[in-house]
Amino acid sequence: MSVEIKQKERLNVINPIFDCQPAGGQFAAIAIKECIPLVHGGQGCCTFVRLVFAQHFKENFDIASSSLHEDEAVFGGIDRILDGVRTLIQRYPEVRIIPIITTCSTETIGDDIEGTVNKLNKELKEKYPDKKVKLIPLHTPSYTGSQVSGYDVALETFISELAKQSKPNGKLNIITGWVNPGDVTEIKHLLSEMKVEGNVLLDTETFDAPTMPDKSAFAYGNTTIEDIEDSANALGTIALCKYEGGKAAQFLETEFDIPTIIGDMPVGIKNTDAFLKNIKKLTGKEIPNSLIIERGKAIDAIADLGHMFFADKKVAIYGDPDLVIGLAQFCIDVSLKPVLLLLGDDNKAYKKDIRFKTIEEQIDYDLEVITNADLFELQSKIENKEVEVDLILGHSKGRFIAIDNKIPMVRVGFPTFDRAGLWKQPLIGYRGAEQLANTIANALFTHMEYTKNKEYILNVW
Ligand code: SF4
Repeated sequence: MSVEIKQKERLNVINPIFDCQPAGGQFAAIAIKECIPLVHGGQGCCTFVRLVFAQHFKENFDIASSSLHEDEAVFGGIDRILDGVRTLIQRYPEVRIIPIITTCSTETIGDDIEGTVNKLNKELKEKYPDKKVKLIPLHTPSYTGSQVSGYDVALETFISELAKQSKPNGKLNIITGWVNPGDVTEIKHLLSEMKVEGNVLLDTETFDAPTMPDKSAFAYGNTTIEDIEDSANALGTIALCKYEGGKAAQFLETEFDIPTIIGDMPVGIKNTDAFLKNIKKLTGKEIPNSLIIERGKAIDAIADLGHMFFADKKVAIYGDPDLVIGLAQFCIDVSLKPVLLLLGDDNKAYKKDIRFKTIEEQIDYDLEVITNADLFELQSKIENKEVEVDLILGHSKGRFIAIDNKIPMVRVGFPTFDRAGLWKQPLIGYRGAEQLANTIANALFTHMEYTKNKEYILNVW
């Protein structure tokens, strides 16, 4: 029937779905090795974001703040950047890259970040001639976009500042977007099965930091400056997310003539099929039998659930746009009915996203997509019975809507702090699809038991 895409009518935001742009910049920055971002703004612009990272990953990350106070908010905060960078270099001898991430206040004041970086570069050259520290201005005013565009801008900035053409490396760039470390592991597994050498940007697999005998406990990113430099020498690029990394992929194509595919996030069988076909197209490598077996296992697991438990269950999904669209496609594939999608910012490109047209062709009911949405929108629609929902897919910030309205919920996206270890599990790939289907089924089963709604079926299933 139809997919209607419209903006939330209310101007204010109650219980936002997304954090602001600097959060996206910070997430991209912590994925780089020997990198400590300096957030130029009030302390909370860094502290609260760092707290959510710690909640989600149950790990600590190094993020610095220029900690703007009243004087600087009026007269400018350049001195705070100078002090901040000098301190970082003295305190952390291993640091090689410092993105200076602007915020709403410092963009409004109009602090000259580029001029400050030039001044610091001269100073560092004189003081530490043997030390190479790259200072990168990262402009992320928070009154436009969201964490999604912040990540997109950050990755494009890192690649445009660092990528250098030398000799072809035979690698395939995979630009992940804002995914979990478990997804990065799954991407590496798929590449390895296809015998393709990948340059995974950004590699967050090491966020799963072991506690070692020397008590080191800080997590760090695994993408090196050299990996980013080398992205200009790849045989191709696949971006998994249009809105988180799409700009960087386009830059590599325009600037270095690297064949690029900005594909669907490989959530579900069809999207994983497309991802593997894209790898084959760019590298010439065949899809091996091992992956066909994995695919078969996932299809088998989903077939056991689809008709019996998923059919016609109505789903509301919120979160990052590429994830939400990927999940909606997955739901349709497994006989669930996505009826309401909520995207937490007002990116005008959503209206023209071709994927909504494809979804429209696949469904025989009405689906509503709300942009600039908040969680209050979801709550009101459910409580006012404007939409009937059997399942919620989204991050932990919407948990009370599910709890209060007794709707089963599966935590996906970022942040998921109220369930253990989710960030280590993939959504991506065939194994991710199987795991997601099982998790959804188990959430529905628990609900059947607690509400005593046909729970006897589980005795004979
Ligand atoms: S909205 Fe502005 S003040 Fe608030 S955290 Fe984001 S950048 Fe900082």
